Amino acid sequence: MLEEILEANKEFVDNFEPVSLGHLPEKKVAILTCMDCRLTGFLPNALGIGRGDAKIIRNAGNTIVGEDAIRSIAAAIYSLGCEEVLVVGHTECGMAHANPDAVKSKMIEMGIDEADIEAVGDLATWIGAIPGEEQNVLETVETIKNHPLISSEIPIHGLIMDITTGEVEVLIDGRE
Ligand code: ZN
Repeated sequence: MLEEILEANKEFVDNFEPVSLGHLPEKKVAILTCMDCRLTGFLPNALGIGRGDAKIIRNAGNTIVGEDAIRSIAAAIYSLGCEEVLVVGHTECGMAHANPDAVKSKMIEMGIDEADIEAVGDLATWIGAIPGEEQNVLETVETIKNHPLISSEIPIHGLIMDITTGEVEVLIDGRE
């Protein structure tokens, strides 16, 4: 796969007219969304977000597990000038069906020590299994809003995107 990617990169660079963009997002928005491969090349277009417009943070299930996504959101706000945060979940999210038992079996099959798996505590929590796509967006928005290092001046919106049509529904309007 690496070969294929490097070939594609060469072809891209050969045909690309370089443009210089600043690192501050034009639309002053940070988006926390899922790593789902169907959102790649889809979610930004569906939201009118172009190159240089937004900080997009992606992880499995657009969740806050530990501090890492919060760290990125804080950087987007305090270092990069973002004034709004969108949490965008999507229908048919794989993380709504994450099976910790299956994950554990696969880990063991691939040589991971069972003691190391036990050490993370509840595997479903660690992997970021979500209760349901909409419920997860509501909970994630609450977690961000209630984080002591996230200013209440920043609206945190919660949306869900139809993975087939790209249509979004606003579950939480952070301005309200
Ligand atoms: Zn997902």
